[in-house]
Amino acid sequence: MIALDIDGVLADFIAPFLRVLEARMGNGPIDPESITDPNFINHPLITTEIISECMAKVSYDPKFWEALAPLPSAEQWQALDRLSCKNNLVFVTHRYERETYDIGQVTRDWLRKHGVSHPVVYFTQNHKSELIGKLNVELFVDDRHENCRDVAENTEAVVLMPHRSYNQSFNHPRVQRIQDLSELFVYLE
Ligand SMILES: [Mg+2]
Repeated sequence: MIALDIDGVLADFIAPFLRVLEARMGNGPIDPESITDPNFINHPLITTEIISECMAKVSYDPKFWEALAPLPSAEQWQALDRLSCKNNLVFVTHRYERETYDIGQVTRDWLRKHGVSHPVVYFTQNHKSELIGKLNVELFVDDRHENCRDVAENTEAVVLMPHRSYNQSFNHPRVQRIQDLSELFVYLE
């Protein structure tokens, strides 16, 4: 069983989220390279309060999630669909569930639109290792280093972390950094 995170792995979250932050702050463009931590810790301009406010804002906006650009190539989506059809693939996300709309529906529709015909998506606000352990996941992919550390230290799963500017300084003996999602398929072979 393989478990993939969605935002930052399959969906380009950071670029549209920076647009939301820019609109809130009104100081012009934010350099993506200035984001050296997924929680924007130690950023010279962006405070935790602004991050929380903007995260809350997008969490209530289904259009934000519907519009996210896909990161994998067409061939990679086809490979993901084959894994999913063999019941070897699930998606595990920390996206917030709100009462005003069904983020499960929005997320599954987005995955279907990009080629995964029958996506199985788990939503959790707990440590991902809980679900990863329960589902007997053997291979886990996430772009947030705190999730990678959690799963590496609390489960038996192999952990792959796609390289991003915001996880660049993280190193862990049980977390393997990958430059491209293609390395996931190489690993599976
Ligand atoms: Mg992520």
